[in-house]
Amino acid sequence: MTLARFKTAETVDFLIVGSGAAGGVIARDLATSGFTVVVLEQGPRLESHDFRHDELAYKNNEELAWGRRQGHPQTFRRTPLETAEIVDAAVLSYAHNVGGSSVHFAANYWRFREVDFKERSLVGPIDGADLADWPISYEELEPYYTRVDWEVGVSGLAGPWDPPRSRGYPCPPMPIKSPGVLLERAGRTLGYQPYPAPVAILSRPHNGRPSCIHCGYCWGFGCEVGAKSSSLVAVIPQAEATGRCEIRPLCTAHRVETNAAGRATGVVYWDAAGVEQRQPARAVVLCANGAETPRLLLLSESSRFPDGLANSSGMVGKNLMFNGWSWTVGPFEHPVNAFRSIPSTRVIHDFYTLHADHGFYGGGGIDSRCPADGTPIASADWCAPPDAPQWGAEYKRSLRQIFTHTAAFVGHTTSLPVPTNSVSLDPVVRDRWGRPALRTTHADHPDDVATMSFFEQRATELMEAAGATRTWGDTGATATPQSQHLLGTCRMGDDPGSSVVDRYHRSHDVPNLFICDGSSLVTSGRGQPTMTIQALAFRAAEYMARAARKGGI
Ligand SMILES: Cc1cc2nc3c(=O)[nH]c(=O)nc-3n(C[C@H](O)[C@H](O)[C@H](O)COP(=O)(O)OP(=O)(O)OC[C@H]3O[C@@H](n4cnc5c(N)ncnc54)[C@H](O)[C@@H]3O)c2cc1C
Repeated sequence: MTLARFKTAETVDFLIVGSGAAGGVIARDLATSGFTVVVLEQGPRLESHDFRHDELAYKNNEELAWGRRQGHPQTFRRTPLETAEIVDAAVLSYAHNVGGSSVHFAANYWRFREVDFKERSLVGPIDGADLADWPISYEELEPYYTRVDWEVGVSGLAGPWDPPRSRGYPCPPMPIKSPGVLLERAGRTLGYQPYPAPVAILSRPHNGRPSCIHCGYCWGFGCEVGAKSSSLVAVIPQAEATGRCEIRPLCTAHRVETNAAGRATGVVYWDAAGVEQRQPARAVVLCANGAETPRLLLLSESSRFPDGLANSSGMVGKNLMFNGWSWTVGPFEHPVNAFRSIPSTRVIHDFYTLHADHGFYGGGGIDSRCPADGTPIASADWCAPPDAPQWGAEYKRSLRQIFTHTAAFVGHTTSLPVPTNSVSLDPVVRDRWGRPALRTTHADHPDDVATMSFFEQRATELMEAAGATRTWGDTGATATPQSQHLLGTCRMGDDPGSSVVDRYHRSHDVPNLFICDGSSLVTSGRGQPTMTIQALAFRAAEYMARAARKGGI
């Protein structure tokens, strides 16, 4: 196979920034449709054999997800009236490598449902939230969800809660593990309908990739056998095999250039040696995620676009959504050994939509996991009960007991779009490239807090019904959040006055600039947004290819 290599003097058809969940899919589809494609990725190219079971390196030292110690500080404030302060741990957390966060994510792959696309019509206005309907429906997106299932690789079983689907899953559900057994039994006791959790991890060989080896190192780790369906293994090799797609690692985009006519002409970036380069392209596609895409747009301001590129609506960076969560841990008399295999094998979706009887709007799902997603240091760090010993022989005994004898039931919930929750450019703090640092402004909407609390209570009841000898836990409603779900900051919509991209991800302001990643989402669903991000990417790429063939780009 000859890998494509383009010169920076050459104008390529499409230049994509970011090779993650969305960027990988779009690169693959545009290249297989016959277009020349360059993908700029700021992180390194790692392969499956590079990944290690090294919790200290990946979770504590942020080897894959850069933070302050690698020269990428972030700042945080709760409201626009406060001055943002530098945070120790990144509020906006994502992986920097070819494949993006799809490489080290947990791979829970829930489809959104019909309701998720029309919540504003169903629920009406909510004080303090900018709730809007999507310009597209579940029915329109369904064929692309099915493409994700089959072309990226998802394991599952169409259950009682599955939205309508045109085709079954390509792989059967992953074998149930012990916390799943506990959740299933408890759920049935309480009258709910637990079902196998859909995951982007292969339960049997598919598309030339092997099945999972159940090593337990999914959340925060790259998969060493390629069974996790990351962009790195599921789509990028196919893009490269066309001979028309070049993935350029260690290349950090810092400006989208435009001409006098207001069209994008290419992207300026720093290459692996730190030298500034410029790649011209007929169209630019931003897939840098819900944090970095708005930063790049805001950094690309000019006299024609004084508030940032594609930002005539003022919506770039606004309505940042994270997905809420809660966790409940329970110890059991017998070993549970929940650290084995994939994070979650069962989920309960009986509380998908809560409104009229509850006094707040929200919804979500509860899945079964190993506390701290299966790794010992994290487990020691934050899974012990409040009265656990802190030192000496008793501490060691308690760690051994907690790691092997506990299960967690975790709530994953809606996050409402709140206009003041945002990603913006910090006016003071700079990163190692001299760019303004990512500044997060965020406070949970009261309904989101109520939803998290509701889910913690249901998870506690489930834990008791499962036979836990006691329970402890919390909601994720902390003063300074840390999130991996970076959503909503360049929202999709028909109205150029209140959205950044149209229903096909074309920016309202710049006709050959497309934006497709977590930032495109109008609402946050109930957790696990990446299946939807990739379905949108398949749909956007199909549109871009069609438009380009007709001379519409
Ligand atoms: C530990 C963890 C667990 C997760 N678990 C789940 C889960 O179970 N289910 C789920 O649905 N989601 C999960 N997620 C979230 C999921 O990974 C993201 O929703 C998804 O990857 C977002 O896709 P994206 O295309 O928007 O961005 P990303 O996948 O983040 O890709 C963006 C890419 O752009 C690159 N980039 C950014 N800026 C630049 C620049 N200026 N120049 C060049 N390149 C740039 C980045 O390095 C990155 O590779 C998890 C995330 C993490 C971190």
